[in-house]
Amino acid sequence: MFFAVITLFPEMFEAIKAYGISGRAEKRDIVQVTCINPRDFATGNYKRVDERPFGGGPGMVMMAEPLSKAINHAKELAAQAGCVHAPVVYMSPQGKTLNEPAVQAFVQYDGLIVLCGRYEGVDERLIQKYVDQEWSIGDYVLSGGELPAMVLLDSIIRRLPNVMSDEQSAVQDSFVDGLLDCPQYTKPDHFEGLDVPEVLKSGHHANIEKWRFLQRYQRTLERRPELVEKVELTKQQKKWLKNLDT
Ligand code: SAM
Repeated sequence: MFFAVITLFPEMFEAIKAYGISGRAEKRDIVQVTCINPRDFATGNYKRVDERPFGGGPGMVMMAEPLSKAINHAKELAAQAGCVHAPVVYMSPQGKTLNEPAVQAFVQYDGLIVLCGRYEGVDERLIQKYVDQEWSIGDYVLSGGELPAMVLLDSIIRRLPNVMSDEQSAVQDSFVDGLLDCPQYTKPDHFEGLDVPEVLKSGHHANIEKWRFLQRYQRTLERRPELVEKVELTKQQKKWLKNLDT
């Protein structure tokens, strides 16, 4: 999958290009992350990308023109990379809140152009003309769109085919089937007076599967009851729950 990120701080993206699952996906050419700096498209001696807001008030606003040129360049690169559909996404606290179904929808695209705002944000006319979708990572305000963009990229990359091995599989992750994940344990057997549940050491796969499901279900009921209502349970899972009642 091709990602072009429009950012005044390209160096920040070394964090996801160099490390962990996303870093390995880049090295294995499953994803390509290219940063485009709008300053490279600014004119004038000072290469300005921001100006004072019309109407006055605090702070600066990112100017439309360098951003439009950067986005057009990103579109050319996406086309060269063979992308058929690479929507332009603006990371914004005013966008829809990112969640697992949205991430899974992004996985269907072959490319994505991600715009990171700074200062007070971006000239509204740029958004009207160039932005296809606006996404937020939560109801709080950060200083720039770079961290939200990295959150978006990482959440997509780990869902792409062949990125995670079977051992790392994301299928049991929280939200994938609508439930939260179960508690996890590793060595040693005893830690500060707490033991690993016996069933996990039993080697009995069916019992482990049942225990994990019941833990996930219970956890979700306690922590996020609104999620449980939407979950589609398998026949087996319904049976496990029914046996609990009897
Ligand atoms: N004045 C803007 C507002 O209140 O809507 C906030 C501007 S913020 C300081 C600068 C940039 O950070 C935004 O343009 C956006 O790209 C990014 N940003 C901040 N919080 C975000 C969030 N929760 N989700 C996504 N992007 C965010």
